[in-house]
Amino acid sequence: MVNGLAVAASRLVTQDGLSLLDPSLNRAERTPEAVAVSGICRERGESLKTLPDFPETNLPQYSTAVLDRPTGTPQKPPQKDDLLDYLEQEATSPWTLKPHTQKPYGKMCGSLCLIGQDEDGNRIAKRIVCGREWCEDCRDISHRRRIARVLPRLMQICPMSYIVITFPLEVRSMMRDPQVLAIIGKKVRRLLRRLGYQKVYTRWHFFGQHGEKYHPHLNVLCDGEWLPPEQLAELKDLIRRKLLPRSIAKTIGKDLDIRYAYRQTPKKIMHTIKYVTKASFRDIDWDEPLANALYGFHNGCFAGTWNDPPKWKLTGTDKKFNALLPLAEGKHPVSGKPIVWNRRPIPFVLVLMEEPVDIGGGYYLLPPIREPPNLAVRPTNLTELPDGDYRKQTNLVKRHGERADNILSLLGDGESYS
Ligand SMILES: [Zn+2]
Repeated sequence: MVNGLAVAASRLVTQDGLSLLDPSLNRAERTPEAVAVSGICRERGESLKTLPDFPETNLPQYSTAVLDRPTGTPQKPPQKDDLLDYLEQEATSPWTLKPHTQKPYGKMCGSLCLIGQDEDGNRIAKRIVCGREWCEDCRDISHRRRIARVLPRLMQICPMSYIVITFPLEVRSMMRDPQVLAIIGKKVRRLLRRLGYQKVYTRWHFFGQHGEKYHPHLNVLCDGEWLPPEQLAELKDLIRRKLLPRSIAKTIGKDLDIRYAYRQTPKKIMHTIKYVTKASFRDIDWDEPLANALYGFHNGCFAGTWNDPPKWKLTGTDKKFNALLPLAEGKHPVSGKPIVWNRRPIPFVLVLMEEPVDIGGGYYLLPPIREPPNLAVRPTNLTELPDGDYRKQTNLVKRHGERADNILSLLGDGESYS
């Protein structure tokens, strides 16, 4: 899917007439996504270690800290089966057990599910995922959920402007702070709102297509369209002035790289949404301290008013996202009624045993629970006697008759004793 996106994205052309993604057209004008920063390094003959935006860090290595064992804990013997190791620790010292489920980005992501149902008893299962960009286990699920979350709003935009803002290499070391990224995003949203745009969405990509080197660029989707060249130049100038002090731009002799494009068809808009919402930090080893710093960072942000009806519909294979749209609002995709989730997770394998319907995004429609066989007596062979039938008696008459029988029987007993 990622490859498909990349191939299709290479056909995107900016309003400047430059390819957004095709590196073959102009090396220096490649899109931020494709600007493999390592390529720039090669051009400058710099190695990764000497780059100015790779400062030494004194951040604690949180992810390894989690795995650190208290003193006295038996160390994991080398070349041993994980399961054996697990069982051995379980048997000897359960209180020190640190199975890989406890890793912050452990192998077990997605192995548990929550079960929910609406008031009509329609059941659904939802895999619990970590949502970290570098988690291979849940990347696709998280991406689909992200798309489903933004679609109700972004479907209110057509045509759509797509702006990508990239910062010069020289200032990227300052942008390793999530707070700085948040402020830049906010500044852009505010600026565009002031300029008259009604709906603005921003989301950071942290790395280019090939990763390895921090390469932050801000994606902006808003309710814009084709701009005359002078207006486009003015917009870029305003963004540059807002985000990078002119003194710095002068000192380093560089400025922000801003690409402006627009999308007019639902298919192209959807394609851009998929691209912007994808994970760019795909390997924690690219920059682990940064990964730790970004923990909890709220990346995709909206500004403006979003009360309009949808302006476009999903087409082709993208229609599969229709099932996920109600789920993004906590509603069942079949009934549209609110789902109440059971708080106790169950293993995903148990869900699979129910042969559920996979509707994507880690959601599964479950079959209805079969009613237990009804063992109660079914009085279908009892017929109502017609009125006047001699067998039809009221309870009073029946009791009366039984009493008379008892008396006769007692009399009979007396006779036999006499
Ligand atoms: Zn995950």
